[in-house]
Amino acid sequence: MKRTNDGGARRIVVISTGGTIASRWQGTGYAADASGDDVLATAPLPEDVTVEVVDLFNVNSSRMTAAHQLALLRTVQDTFADPGVDGIVVTHGTDTLEETAFLLDLHHADARPVVLTGAQRPFGTGDGDGPGNLYDALQVAATVRELGVLVVFDGRVHAARGTVKTQTLAADAFSDPSAERLGRVGFSRVDIERQPERPAPLPLPAAARTAIPGATGPDATPLPRVDIVTHHSDGDPFLFNAAVAAGARGIVLEATGAGNATPEIVAAVADAVAEGVLVAVSTRVPAGPLAEIYTGGGAVDLVAAGAVLTGTLRSAQARIALLATLLADGGSGDPARTTALLRRLLEGPVRAEPALATGGSRSATAVAGRA
Ligand code: ASP
Repeated sequence: MKRTNDGGARRIVVISTGGTIASRWQGTGYAADASGDDVLATAPLPEDVTVEVVDLFNVNSSRMTAAHQLALLRTVQDTFADPGVDGIVVTHGTDTLEETAFLLDLHHADARPVVLTGAQRPFGTGDGDGPGNLYDALQVAATVRELGVLVVFDGRVHAARGTVKTQTLAADAFSDPSAERLGRVGFSRVDIERQPERPAPLPLPAAARTAIPGATGPDATPLPRVDIVTHHSDGDPFLFNAAVAAGARGIVLEATGAGNATPEIVAAVADAVAEGVLVAVSTRVPAGPLAEIYTGGGAVDLVAAGAVLTGTLRSAQARIALLATLLADGGSGDPARTTALLRRLLEGPVRAEPALATGGSRSATAVAGRA
């Protein structure tokens, strides 16, 4: 479906993927089943915006797979092959939205925005937040440039990097506990307060050309297994080693504190790294950076064993950085190069790199639809 508001000066493509914004009562609970057209029909359109809808898939995002995310990445890049498109909005479940947003952002080399949004309350309910979030996302997509991939929710604009779901039910579902939000949207204005920090973008991985959501057997594109293992009091290397035995090519160790575990887990990490497994260390603490402070099983020893600290990225996005590294560089056979790439994706900004055409620092107020 195509909808136009007045002149239709800005052309936005909405890619629908499911989530609560598309979820209806199924008799026992809610599940995504409304089409992209139905979801779009719930929202008014900002002035001067034309919208086209792509129904890509329809899942609640706890069922998202790397094949779904890569199919979406391919669709985003194919959509931007049309120079007449001004921006993309992706409607997505909130549960894993931060993972998909970050994967898209790591590969996003276009000045035009991709804006992810969704809802905490389901489709077609009187108190639903989906229509307002979709309207705001369209406004942001029609307004900003050179900010990469964004998350728009409850009047806030967030950078993909670092943003996590911090509320299970409340409307203000997302934030970056280690950084300020990027901006605000509302009252026909989009106010951008800072420039997101982004590494030079990766090229589209070969697997994104062939990945088919839900494909199994010979039709499925082989994708690397990447696991997350959480440490806690009483923790031992059993689950970490189980991940290695299951064929994980990347593992996020979600450590305690600023990145600490035990000497036994450090030994397991060293063995895994020696076998070619990429290991990143994040933390179960919501905010703040990882830091090499402690020995005796701490971050000092984990780094010495070959693991990479994740900066201020939390586990789900660190896992995406591992996946992107393996997809980009998995066949290189050069562990030093692979680790350097992972470090670049985890740590983020490499300001001097020309491939990142950010247009300098931006503290702009843009009037929606006219910037
Ligand atoms: N379970 C839903 C999903 O992630 C939650 C949501 O969209 O808010 O698809």
